[in-house]
Amino acid sequence: MAKATKTATKSTTKPASKAETKAETKDKKPRSPKYVYDFEQGNRNMKDLLGGKGANLGEMTNLGLPVPPGFTITTEACNEYLRQGGLPEGVMDQVARHMKTLEKKMGRRFGDAKNPLLVSVRSGAKFSMPGMMDTVLNLGLNDTTVAGLAEQYGDDRFAADAYRRFVQMFGKIVMGVPGERFEHEIDVVKETNAFTSDTELGVGELTGLVTRFKEIAAEAGVAFPDDPMTQLEMAIRAVFESWNGERARIYRRKNKIPDDLGTAVNVVAMVFGNVGENSGTGVAFTRDASTGDRKYLAEYLTQAQGEDVVSGARTPLSLDELKHRDPASYKELVKVMHTLEQHYRDMCDIEFTVEQGKLWMLQTRIGKRTAASAVKIAVDLVKERQISRQEAVLRVDPASLDQLLHPQWDPEAEIRVVAKGLNASPGAAAGKAVFDARTAQEWAAAGDRVILVRPMTEPDDVGGMYASRGILTSRGGKTSHAAVVARGAGKPCVCGAEELHIDLAERRFTVNGTTVVEGDVIAIDGSTGRVAVGDVPLVQPQLSGDLERILKWADEVRRLKVRTNADTPEDAAKARTFGAEGIGLARTEHMFLGDRLPVVQRMILARTPEEERAALSELLELQRGDFAGIFQAMSGLPVTIRLLDPPLHEFLPSSKELELAIKQLEFDLTSAPGDERARLEKELAEKVDLLGAVERLEESNPMLGMRGVRLGVARPGLYAMQVRAIMEAACDVKEKGGRPVVEIMIPLVAVREELEMMRAEAEAVIADVLKSRRKKIDVLIGTMIELPRAALVAAEIAESAQFFSFGTNDLTQTTYGFSRDDVEGKFLSKYLELGLLKANPFETLDQSGVGRLIRIAVSEGRAARPGLKVGICGEHGGDPASVEFCHAAGLDYVSCSPFRVPVARLAAAHAALKDSGVGGSETR
Ligand code: PEP
Ligand code: MG
Repeated sequence: MAKATKTATKSTTKPASKAETKAETKDKKPRSPKYVYDFEQGNRNMKDLLGGKGANLGEMTNLGLPVPPGFTITTEACNEYLRQGGLPEGVMDQVARHMKTLEKKMGRRFGDAKNPLLVSVRSGAKFSMPGMMDTVLNLGLNDTTVAGLAEQYGDDRFAADAYRRFVQMFGKIVMGVPGERFEHEIDVVKETNAFTSDTELGVGELTGLVTRFKEIAAEAGVAFPDDPMTQLEMAIRAVFESWNGERARIYRRKNKIPDDLGTAVNVVAMVFGNVGENSGTGVAFTRDASTGDRKYLAEYLTQAQGEDVVSGARTPLSLDELKHRDPASYKELVKVMHTLEQHYRDMCDIEFTVEQGKLWMLQTRIGKRTAASAVKIAVDLVKERQISRQEAVLRVDPASLDQLLHPQWDPEAEIRVVAKGLNASPGAAAGKAVFDARTAQEWAAAGDRVILVRPMTEPDDVGGMYASRGILTSRGGKTSHAAVVARGAGKPCVCGAEELHIDLAERRFTVNGTTVVEGDVIAIDGSTGRVAVGDVPLVQPQLSGDLERILKWADEVRRLKVRTNADTPEDAAKARTFGAEGIGLARTEHMFLGDRLPVVQRMILARTPEEERAALSELLELQRGDFAGIFQAMSGLPVTIRLLDPPLHEFLPSSKELELAIKQLEFDLTSAPGDERARLEKELAEKVDLLGAVERLEESNPMLGMRGVRLGVARPGLYAMQVRAIMEAACDVKEKGGRPVVEIMIPLVAVREELEMMRAEAEAVIADVLKSRRKKIDVLIGTMIELPRAALVAAEIAESAQFFSFGTNDLTQTTYGFSRDDVEGKFLSKYLELGLLKANPFETLDQSGVGRLIRIAVSEGRAARPGLKVGICGEHGGDPASVEFCHAAGLDYVSCSPFRVPVARLAAAHAALKDSGVGGSETR
């Protein structure tokens, strides 16, 4: 936020006269770049330069829609401003010239005492960033021009109120004074006069407030500027500076918007929605942004100015009510919405104002929408023959599908619904109620599930909103700040739940006789708007018909196959319903937990070969059943089973835990009665033994130690047991008519010889089982590429491996030298904040480093073994940007968790379409 001290430069700009312009040309002085464009000079393809808002205002102007005249100052000017720490030369001269043109178009003059021109100043980056920087309205007002405004509209109160709003907004947004200071003054005046609403404030009170507001603003160290051109320059500077404000940076990080785009500034002739009952302002969507239904959706406030609707401070009227009150404006609005949809061939969202019965368009853009609505709209537009199937595929952001795979309330659960608000963002959540954003962040960081409860949210709350499971507000419509941010973040949100009486001071709310205090668990359902008290179990959703259709169209164009990471028959079956084409990674260690743990521990702690063999054969029995279930669930599709990978100490208690237990036992023994002593002594001896074993297995860097293939080498018989269980299971399934497709994967290989040794052992077991069971089953034996060395000697390794699967979790860990288990809580957020890393490399594949290793391994591996099958099974397999990389790097498949399978299918299609030159989507 720009502070007054920084922005108080008095404008030195005066409009360039013709003579000056001529002299400039004659002297051949280098002209400054073009920084300002009239709306007529812009169009929708100029978003980089004019920002989304400016580009679309240009597009609408050229479509002949009723847009108030104005101009856009470019993002280049912003970037130059940020680079050199001040306005680049020539910007204000150009602004002054365009203001002259604006004056001519409007027949009004900026700063004129009789017939003043007023403007709004609005930020607008390439991608919309709600709440980054609010609009400054009514700019150009001062003690002189306010009289002119009153005369223009024949309404003294309106002019005084416009002036009050201007000083308040300018003071808050441009001069950086906390908004509550102004709100407080209004409350004082209302209390003194026993007014209950703002509308009772008369000219006298409003003028008094203007004086008081200016005094408050001056406390920032600079007098409130009266000169309109100074006001304009300060506002432009403030918009530019807001690009680097905290709110904007958080939003960009969250939405992966680059930091170097900059924002444009739009200067637009004012039109007023607050001049009488036949005026108003609103926002509209050409289709339902929540469900995608084909119906216009608008929220309209009479007697209001711009931000009143978005802020959610008053509950707006519906489109039907507008139709009833002002049929002419309604008709015009519907016509404009139809034109925009046909023109953009997509759902648009718009902001509009009606000034004394005349409609004005203030903004349009491709509307933000929930994933459900994106899917429905894309399918509907294909049915309406507006777009092709391929375009429809590109209209749905793969990452957004996560939203559709959000949990819902368990329909079987007993739920105490206490209120119903608006279904502002889909999905369900349960968690502790918290009443401010900071607490939400703190509690969430400590591991709590939280729901942020506020009367309404503000841009400063975004950190807390992202940290929460869901958001609940008592005020505001579906276009309120809370709703827009929640949808963008894929968080469930219920807003406008007016039955809630929220007491922020007491940190509680009451609703229909129930009181919820901070920390009590509540649940919300953002798909229906329901609010419940108490915990509600959640269930996973199914794919909708429209989503199935989009995914089918995606399957028609993608090249990459999509498998899943699954260790249980249930997960495998679920993933199959989501379209998984096999298992890319079954981690066998997950089968060693739970009630299997004692057997595993016996195997690890065995003191004699006999003891070890006995434990291994017990495990063999158990694993055979596990594998059979998985082969059955994936019958006919490949199943890659990874042999045991983690360090063995993970299956034992920690030495700390054991030391504590030993101390306790020793203490208990000092006072134990005689008949107890023997039992305690036996237990103590066992614990001491166990501690010895644990200490022998403990390592300083376990992730770089006895794990992966090294376990197989160091524990002869362990991998052989697993391979036997796999093959016997495959035979069992085949005997029952199933079609097991077996791939055995050896993890963490660094040198070809270790792989060869394990492969030889596995092949002997496979041959033995197939011979004794008289079966023929093809089996591939491959390896994971998880170490830089393995990638670099891929040609050698490929000679012994029938497939590669990139374990990019470990490959990222070992390439960066970042511990995958600790990095998040330690330095990663700092790195991201400082811009040292653009993204978390454990979420989004680092293409230049880890990606380079992958490319080397693919090309050298395939050179040694033509046609080598290559996939990825690290977490990156479900991340859309990483999937795009895998497509480009020539992988055969990606593998990801079951719920990300649809995401990966769609991302793979996007990659293929973009690769073949089919354009991307404008939606963001
Ligand atoms: C990997 O390292 O990427 C991998 C898939 O294996 P794990 O996460 O089990 O180490
Ligand atoms: Mg690994």
